[in-house]
Amino acid sequence: MNKLFVDDIDVKNKRVLVRVDFNVPFDSVGGISDDTRIRAVLPTINYLLDEGARVILISHMGRPKGQRDPKLSLAPVAKRLQRLLQKNVLFLNDCLGDEVKNAVEKMQQEDVVLLENLRYYKEEAQNDPGFARQLAGLADIFVNDAFATAHRKHASNVGVTAFLSPCVGGFLMKKEITYFDKAMENPVRPFVAILGGAKVSGKIEALKNLVGKVDKIIIGGGMVFTFLKSIGHEIGKSLVEENMLDMAMDILKLAKAKGVKLYLPIDAVVAEAIDPRAVTKIVPIQEVPPNWLGLDIGPASSTLFAEVLANAKTIVWNGPMGVFEIDAFSRGTYAMVNAVANSYAMTIVGGGDTDVAVHRVGESYKISYISTGGGAFLELLEGKELPGIAVLTSK
Ligand code: AMP
Repeated sequence: MNKLFVDDIDVKNKRVLVRVDFNVPFDSVGGISDDTRIRAVLPTINYLLDEGARVILISHMGRPKGQRDPKLSLAPVAKRLQRLLQKNVLFLNDCLGDEVKNAVEKMQQEDVVLLENLRYYKEEAQNDPGFARQLAGLADIFVNDAFATAHRKHASNVGVTAFLSPCVGGFLMKKEITYFDKAMENPVRPFVAILGGAKVSGKIEALKNLVGKVDKIIIGGGMVFTFLKSIGHEIGKSLVEENMLDMAMDILKLAKAKGVKLYLPIDAVVAEAIDPRAVTKIVPIQEVPPNWLGLDIGPASSTLFAEVLANAKTIVWNGPMGVFEIDAFSRGTYAMVNAVANSYAMTIVGGGDTDVAVHRVGESYKISYISTGGGAFLELLEGKELPGIAVLTSK
């Protein structure tokens, strides 16, 4: 936390380039179906306006891969932002060029401009210095409040920092880093990590890093079957990564060597297919029938895991316990939401799917912090330094 944040610097009258993540989902008729990402950066925008800055917002939307795709325009976001801020937001249908330069030059204090999708230019994802220089040329100061893209090395979050000073984090960035540091660097113990989701391969680096930091690890989701197979269980047709069996065994050994208690499910909800209409059974983990798939942890595992969490003081959770998109396989994940939400711990939940589950159960207000980052959150769990944070000006 040796980085500068927006409240550490003077922004009065300055033109401030603010990288945000306005990559919101749309419904089938083109409306914004969830504006959480817009709301998440309002504190930074409002602060800058209160302090008399001129605010130039930049963001990506989807993956247009260097082409102008009208379906991925940020224009609808400008409209929603205008309503949320209750003030005029000028939308420019490009992020570079003379029209943008002129509009930005005319900005007064407390004006807000939103530029069009950065990824209409392939140079953005290539971290092209020329593109970054032009973006940076619009402003005096850089604020990065796009935590969810901080694991990418793009022109709008890394490239621009070569041409602007200071480069500081916004309030969302500050919140993400503060909570994460509290958990990982100086956790109140017992510290429990819960990992789930589809594949071990996606979580292996996080597991390796966490084994060195936590007191207990709970593993669920599809990834658990690679662990179960590695210790000799029959897992039927459950998801398995044959090339990760040794790695899974190594993690189990490492946890043991470090005195970390590692918990695997003791029962599972199994079915013959990933289908809402499939016949399901709850079986002890030793009794997964051949040709059936394990698609959720069972009720006994939920009870066990709730007991494991009962004395926790810090909990970090990434990844669902089962295929929670289908009702029949959602109970394990929802039970975990309840256990985490009702614990007396500082709780951090991250990864797109996990926060969807928490919101569905209606327990989000009981979670200490829900990260806005999927990939970025996972990379922090892996112990990596995120490029978008590393380049911010140090105190
Ligand atoms: P991830 O992106 O790795 O966090 O994985 C999330 C996905 O894992 C969700 O879409 C779940 O449907 C899926 N998942 C969870 N448990 C299982 C399981 N037992 N078998 C197959 N997929 C699973």
